[in-house]
Amino acid sequence: MTTFLGMPARAPRGVGHLRGDEPFPVAAREALANSQLRRNLHHATSTIRGKSGRVIAELPDWQQLRAAGSALKAYTMAHLPRLLEQLEEKVTAAGGLVHWAADANEANRIVTDLVRQTGERRVIKVKSMATQEIGLNEALEAAGITPVETDLAELIVQLGDDKPSHILVPAIHRNRSEIREIFLRAMPGVDPSLTDNPPDLAGAARRYLRETFLSTRVAVSGANFAIAETGTLAVVESEGNGRMCLTLPDTLVTVMGIEKLVPAWSDLEVFLQLLPRASTGERMNPYTSMWHGVTPGDGPQSFHLVLLDNGRSAVLADEVGRQALHCIRCSACLNVCPVYERTGGHAYGSVYPGPIGAVLSPQLTGVADNPTLPYASSLCGACFDACPVKIDIPSILVHLRNQAPHPRGEAAVMAAAAYTMDRPKLYASAQRAAKLARIAGRRGRGLPPPLNGWSASRDLPEPPKETFRDWWRGR
Ligand code: SF4
Repeated sequence: MTTFLGMPARAPRGVGHLRGDEPFPVAAREALANSQLRRNLHHATSTIRGKSGRVIAELPDWQQLRAAGSALKAYTMAHLPRLLEQLEEKVTAAGGLVHWAADANEANRIVTDLVRQTGERRVIKVKSMATQEIGLNEALEAAGITPVETDLAELIVQLGDDKPSHILVPAIHRNRSEIREIFLRAMPGVDPSLTDNPPDLAGAARRYLRETFLSTRVAVSGANFAIAETGTLAVVESEGNGRMCLTLPDTLVTVMGIEKLVPAWSDLEVFLQLLPRASTGERMNPYTSMWHGVTPGDGPQSFHLVLLDNGRSAVLADEVGRQALHCIRCSACLNVCPVYERTGGHAYGSVYPGPIGAVLSPQLTGVADNPTLPYASSLCGACFDACPVKIDIPSILVHLRNQAPHPRGEAAVMAAAAYTMDRPKLYASAQRAAKLARIAGRRGRGLPPPLNGWSASRDLPEPPKETFRDWWRGR
């Protein structure tokens, strides 16, 4: 074990997908140069935004639902240890086995051992952000076990040896001709005359997946919700692949972040209204699968639940940042974010892109390992307005920016500014100096060296013609 009471650990380095190879500004610059990517992103995010806006407008109590979702999550976080133990008790009583994983390494080891014990060499997977976070596919492959993603977009990403770039639409950066090429290159048994007609592409994936579903005995899933009161797990999805994975195999292993808990069965009423409208713009999910331990003669006869920490306890310890654990992964904040819409998900370097990624990834890893992500935002506040559980992402961003290491020059300038603003006479002299600089012709030319780097990509606000003090004196 690497976690001890009072010393919550961060997600370990060298495993999983929470840290990028490059800082956000460098990766974003590369993404911005790809005009095809920007077109794909604009089309997809604006389409989902429009659809979601229309179905949300149908509900007169949307704001009350948001408030209820937010309150339920806050209650869950305040009582997390007790609720997790209640969940363990209920799952165990229903014939399941609960495993506690302090971090990614431990979770990968547990899942790999469980699959090995079955003697199988292949697993089918339902789309799961938690297993991507910990790099489970890589761990399984290293153990000689083949994971097969069954969500269509995840399958495209896996066959393309690529990374997901959106929570809900992981292959948002791919167009149909690229998908056809990937299928022809990497999908076993694909018809060489396959066209890039979307129904044909879906048909090819369906044939391959149907064969895989029927011949694989172990499945790995995530969970959208776990109900402490009953020990019930829930997965919501649109393609039916989740239903196949959760019912056909003999063994089911579910990997779930500890924050996915809700206290009671009736709480699902709130979240099952919020999630589909905010994420896919649907009134309800096409498939909502719920299961409860093991039922003799029906569905998997061996069920394991792996409860994953991987930095979450550390996030919970932060009074401002803990709100990020309320996230229900709807992706609404991505679809309204002007930064995400231009850079796409890869620039964030983490499995969690967009505004939620900018606040969750640095907290799971520690801000020092992801210092540029809290700056991947214009602080416009659109994410806060869109979030169905009212996570105040802009406030967390500012909070995390304060924790990020600042260059020495910037810290010195800020200290000097604070010193000056604290002293009225000195502040008045500084204002006069700024006015002189304006008269001396620095208008529109930015700051003089050595501060010119700061104003190279920013408009320097013009000093006003008249200061407040001058105006006041004049009256
Ligand atoms: S932060 Fe809110 S809007 Fe963004 S994915 Fe999570 S629940 Fe959805």
